[in-house]
Amino acid sequence: MQTTITQTFQSHFSTVPLLAFAPGRINLIGEHTDYQEGFVFPAAVEQGIWVAIQKNGLTVCRLYSLDFDQEFSFELDAFSPKKGHWATYVMGMVALLQQAGYQITGFDMVIGGNIPVGSGLSSSAALSVAIGTSISGLFGFQVPKKSIALYGQKSEHLFAGVKCGIMDQYASAFGVKGKALLLDCRSNSHEEVPAEFGEYSLILVNSKVKHSLADTAYNKRREACEESVRILAKHYPGIKTLRDIPLEDLEKVENLLPAELYPKAKHLITEIARVHLAGKALKSGELQTFGTLLKASHASLSKDYEVSCEELDFLAETSWKIDGVLGSRMMGGGFGGCTLNLVKTSEIAIFEKKIEAAYLEKFGIIPDFIPVKIGSGSSILEEISLAD
Ligand code: ADP
Ligand code: MG
Repeated sequence: MQTTITQTFQSHFSTVPLLAFAPGRINLIGEHTDYQEGFVFPAAVEQGIWVAIQKNGLTVCRLYSLDFDQEFSFELDAFSPKKGHWATYVMGMVALLQQAGYQITGFDMVIGGNIPVGSGLSSSAALSVAIGTSISGLFGFQVPKKSIALYGQKSEHLFAGVKCGIMDQYASAFGVKGKALLLDCRSNSHEEVPAEFGEYSLILVNSKVKHSLADTAYNKRREACEESVRILAKHYPGIKTLRDIPLEDLEKVENLLPAELYPKAKHLITEIARVHLAGKALKSGELQTFGTLLKASHASLSKDYEVSCEELDFLAETSWKIDGVLGSRMMGGGFGGCTLNLVKTSEIAIFEKKIEAAYLEKFGIIPDFIPVKIGSGSSILEEISLAD
């Protein structure tokens, strides 16, 4: 991939580029906890986005997307968001870096990658982080990784129109090969946890459905959490979010909250606890325990938080019954997308066959399988000159 991007750049622009990379990400566990300042447990994957970049001595930025086979240019002093277009992510990062005081001059750029778009691996976050990393490297800005992640998040808000948390960009920037990041969404800091799966492998199953409920449900869930915090604050002075409620107090919380709010709060409180338990399980190599936590997370997201759907429930529950599967759960916001599965490597072929047959029979859809390995975070790759 590196060579292809560099070659494409050289044939397009006839100069030697600097190459940057940023990966996609998975989230092992900790779903819908970010907006209550809870904990999440993402990891970078090996799939990612490569960006080749070089100064062009002009006031214009000339872009080429290898995967879309499209060119796009914009003047540095006059550009605006172009929602739905890949170039909006470049303009977003440029705008935020400029706003932060970095002096950017004209550049040429080629973008390419191997993250299936919209599959749950967050190709857009990888793209933003790769772009930020490449610009920082080209101009010698040495922008801290955390700032690149924050600009990436802000760019999604302002230029792509997606109101996301910090997790995706953060994991793409800070990922470490073979490690997951126990990320505290209050302090925006993380602890690296070895994520070694031995004779097991992670594989995503893409349900290929996306129910339109997602946006409204997301807002409703956020509001439900905030309402619970308002009620609970009378009994827990000083709490800011549900993250501040200890797991031991679940029964007390049940007595304090109205029946319709309690299950939502329960998901938050138990899911945050599961993230910590999952961290402990991975540190001590207890994969069975880790798998059990994945199942519990799914059940909680489905039954208590009600952000799953028939297809995801079917995929997770079918997976649980297959030999060699330690755990499976829906990953991401819900109402579609992927399940994350921890499956014995030697059983993967059979796993795929069984899941495919069952899903096809029930829903008439052939799911996609995406094997994932935990890879490194964003970086400048060595300048490789094909002319040498
Ligand atoms: P995801 O869940 O994968 O992040 P999004 O809809 O948030 O899905 O982002 C996908 C968008 O990111 C694409 O429509 C495109 O604009 C941009 N993108 C992703 N991968 C690439 C790529 N390889 N080249 C150019 N643009 C890309
Ligand atoms: Mg995205």
